[in-house]
Amino acid sequence: MTVPHGAGAESAPAPVTVLAGPTAVGKGTVSAKIRELYPQIWLSVSATTRPPRPGEVDGLHYRFVSDDEFTRLVENEQMLEWAVVHGRHRYGTPRGPVVEAVAAGHPVLLEIDLAGARQIRHTVPEARFVFLAPPSWDSLVERLVGRGTESAEERERRLETAARELAAESEFDVTIVNDEVPRATAELAALLGVRDLT
Ligand code: 5GP
Repeated sequence: MTVPHGAGAESAPAPVTVLAGPTAVGKGTVSAKIRELYPQIWLSVSATTRPPRPGEVDGLHYRFVSDDEFTRLVENEQMLEWAVVHGRHRYGTPRGPVVEAVAAGHPVLLEIDLAGARQIRHTVPEARFVFLAPPSWDSLVERLVGRGTESAEERERRLETAARELAAESEFDVTIVNDEVPRATAELAALLGVRDLT
């Protein structure tokens, strides 16, 4: 389900679309589906200081960089935004490739965290902001603490973060509810002006 927030939110596609939402809502899954099904959409490859996970390809899933390299990119103003995510590693959107993709006329998608989205409001004010929401609070809790392996304190911390992140929805132009990944993905693609070929 796509919920526009106010007039014009669903009008012509913006050159840059930002997808953000609470932790564990499934942003990564939706953007992976976009990469798989909609090659017309140019998905930004973030730089990160976190090490690759098994199966992740440098330059495709992320650009894996050292701490020094990340600092250099920030100091040289080559990041459109960046943030420390989950209090650990730095993640950021390299500016040059986004500028080139927009100039080439591709619909551009950034999948980033809320702190990064807030910076894009300033660096790319014409961007459209899409909030990926869980179908319900309980479903988010289930995803966040489902395995029940965390301490009570960690569980509490995660739930507080989730509540704060959900409250950010009103800052966004449009909400997509991630009740079913294929549908949420198709709705996002439609917002970017790309229709399913099937
Ligand atoms: P993961 O380490 O699981 O791939 O990603 C963790 C989080 O980092 C996700 O919530 C994702 O949205 C966020 N993230 C990925 N790339 C960027 C980026 O370029 N900038 C910001 N601010 N967050 C990012």
